[in-house]
Amino acid sequence: MKIKKIDHLGIAVSDIESGKKFWQDIMGLKLEGTETVEEQKVTTLFFPVGESEVELLESTSPDGPVAKYIEKKGPGLQHIAFRVENIDEALAELKTKGVKLIDESPRKGAGGARIAFLHPKATGGILVELCEKNN
Ligand code: ZN
Repeated sequence: MKIKKIDHLGIAVSDIESGKKFWQDIMGLKLEGTETVEEQKVTTLFFPVGESEVELLESTSPDGPVAKYIEKKGPGLQHIAFRVENIDEALAELKTKGVKLIDESPRKGAGGARIAFLHPKATGGILVELCEKNN
């Protein structure tokens, strides 16, 4: 598999307005966009930083994965996303290597990306996302 870069850091917030205030007003990052991904019950805010982005995640529903994460571990860094050249090949390779996956096949992420999560049990406790984007 070919990893191109760290695509984004996914940060779970319980209050997107105070998250926005910190990253935008205090840290001086520029908000580039916001998107709600219904499939994942999440609203995302993107702040580009060089080649990567800070991505704030707020749950749109109490039973969404981000809400569940915050309930268990509190707000904070939730996942690290790596941009891969070909996500289908990457997942096939990980399967042959016996890596436990949350997503056996890619699903739809923000910004038209195709994404898949690896199981934290397979990665030393980190929720790793792979993503493939055309841009
Ligand atoms: Zn992500």
